[in-house]
Amino acid sequence: MLLVVTDERCIGHEAGTNHPERPDRLIAATTGLRESGVTDALVHEVPRLVTDAELLRVHTRDLVDHVVSVGEAGGGRLDPDTVMNAASLEAARLAAGSVVTAVDRLVADAGAFDAAYCVVRPPGHHATPSQSMGFCLFNSVAVAAAALADAGERVAIVDIDAHHGNGTQDIFYADPRVLFASIHQSPLYPGTGRVDETGGGPGAGTTINVPLPPGATGDVARAAIDRVIAPAVERHGATWVLISAGYDGHRSDPITDLGYTSADIADLVGAVTALVGRGRVVTVLEGGYDLDAIRHSSAAVAAQLVGETHRPESATSGGPGFAVVDAAAEIHASP
Ligand SMILES: [Zn+2]
Repeated sequence: MLLVVTDERCIGHEAGTNHPERPDRLIAATTGLRESGVTDALVHEVPRLVTDAELLRVHTRDLVDHVVSVGEAGGGRLDPDTVMNAASLEAARLAAGSVVTAVDRLVADAGAFDAAYCVVRPPGHHATPSQSMGFCLFNSVAVAAAALADAGERVAIVDIDAHHGNGTQDIFYADPRVLFASIHQSPLYPGTGRVDETGGGPGAGTTINVPLPPGATGDVARAAIDRVIAPAVERHGATWVLISAGYDGHRSDPITDLGYTSADIADLVGAVTALVGRGRVVTVLEGGYDLDAIRHSSAAVAAQLVGETHRPESATSGGPGFAVVDAAAEIHASP
């Protein structure tokens, strides 16, 4: 069974006319759930609102106060790409709350679920400790990861969004309890995520970056998981895996240039899911800006999370990027 945490109130957030991070994205993702072929295995739950105390585990008081004040004033601009309206604060609190809701339910009903899937917006992985940016208000995945780490769990975050999850990386860069691994396109916004960014201080070695060139296909990303990320997650002793599932690595995405299909994205999610026990995986929607790509990817991922196969598109291979995987494998090889 798959726990689906989603809420129509996430549709109300709008960042402006013609903004790629638009309400139809959420509708596309939930339409995909209905096309997944596994609707009988889906259990829906409404998220709770994240609390300030939970946000303050990963964000500064200044960031939280600023987002709340802009939201309560009816909206405004947080950075050049990141805009709030009157519905945005509630949507962002629900998006962050969805991941902790998912974790709580998986723990409470141990054994009942294969995994959880949070279908929410706005996304979160660009939000740093002190800055909302890149369409992201609060770092939803990081909030749940920090709560799990504080409860003594060993957490791995695997980010397959086409953009580097700079915010998540910043939050956990020096934190040895949370492994952060990202496969992303380079060059691309926000410009971070070089292969030699590997964590700092007590967190040295617990950040992994595999920056792939434009055109990289599913087989290259899969190799990054099999050869670099999976061994690191096992060495980390992860008890939970949170997946930042952006669907903008899809070859149809209008703002990126990777070459995946929905089949590749589901395959990546499946490979990561296999690294921890049943009921210890939460997959969270991040980016993705082509509505058909979101719909197909959401359908394929939902089926994958309950061990079924739904492949509206074929897997891809033959693109560039294996040299980067080789370099990352060398940097992160077992001591
Ligand atoms: Zn993205």
